[in-house]
Amino acid sequence: MKAAVVRENLDGYVDLIDNWEPRALSFGEALVDVEYSGLCHTDLHVAGGDFGDPSTINPRPFRRVIGHEGVGRVTKLAEGADDYLKIGDRVSIAWFYDACGNCEYCNSGNETFCRKVRNAGFSVDGAMAQQVVVNAKYAVKVPEGLDPMEASSITCAGVTMYKSLKVGETKPGQWVSVVGAGGLGNLAVQYAHNVFGAHVVAVDGNPDKLAAAKEMGAELLINRKTEDVPAVIQEKVGGVHNAQVTAVNTTAFNQSIASLRPMGKLVAVALPSGDMGLNVVKTVLDGIEVRGSLVGTREDLKEAFQFGAEGKVKPIVTRADIRDINDVIDEMKNGKITGRMVFDFTKM
Ligand SMILES: [Zn+2]
Ligand SMILES: [Zn+2]
Repeated sequence: MKAAVVRENLDGYVDLIDNWEPRALSFGEALVDVEYSGLCHTDLHVAGGDFGDPSTINPRPFRRVIGHEGVGRVTKLAEGADDYLKIGDRVSIAWFYDACGNCEYCNSGNETFCRKVRNAGFSVDGAMAQQVVVNAKYAVKVPEGLDPMEASSITCAGVTMYKSLKVGETKPGQWVSVVGAGGLGNLAVQYAHNVFGAHVVAVDGNPDKLAAAKEMGAELLINRKTEDVPAVIQEKVGGVHNAQVTAVNTTAFNQSIASLRPMGKLVAVALPSGDMGLNVVKTVLDGIEVRGSLVGTREDLKEAFQFGAEGKVKPIVTRADIRDINDVIDEMKNGKITGRMVFDFTKM
């Protein structure tokens, strides 16, 4: 069976192997035949060892399979799984794989912050394989009206931005800046505009990505390479109510702080290494808030899928061949991808 596994030297690429086997099902688990699996920046972090060596966590005879933007059909249920899923259900495999279900975070609707959380494609084998094992209680069903390739993109990028717009307390009529208009940003523009009813400023250095953002409903476009981002935002809209920062560089964070209006919120989504500069006087005098937002809960994902099924959000997806995965990794590193590259496992 084919799977894309992290290399031993953690050089940021993966090996495509043919002899991979999923682990045996335990109580409450289900086997899923993967249909589509998208590649995400987080997979690049895992493959590069940025979060540590994944193969040392829950070790297996195989190196860790990446992938947490997976969609597939349930083909086998272990005892205890049929309370939640049945054979043939289409489910998602998300970065939030499962959690303890019994701590203050799990019990308060904040399960992604559980200290015992497991992540698909990092602490357990992920969806960049022909089959994947899921915890039936935690695998969120994909509505039948939603295109499965598009659903794969909502499983991570979509729910991440839907959640972070919630974390930013986005309200109808407010101004939101989406900083970085790539795979995450494009979905942020759509959720902000079509679901939350907000006005959107898109910031990027790539004119193609800005053009795509405009098509999705962004009203103000700023090229960070040629324009002074905070100055334009302050002048044109008086600052934003919240800034959604998906760009993987710390400059974007600093510019976003300066782009806020009083009582504005910066929501940190991207994971550049390093620190952001937070001016204390501005923070106090303007009542600025900085919040981190991490993927979404099962309920968030359910809601994010539903808006996709209703046609309010349409991810930009491009079909890719799993044999080209390292080329796609290079394209992603070079910022050349608009939307998401999704690997098709249906014809294997
Ligand atoms: Zn992801
Ligand atoms: Zn917990």
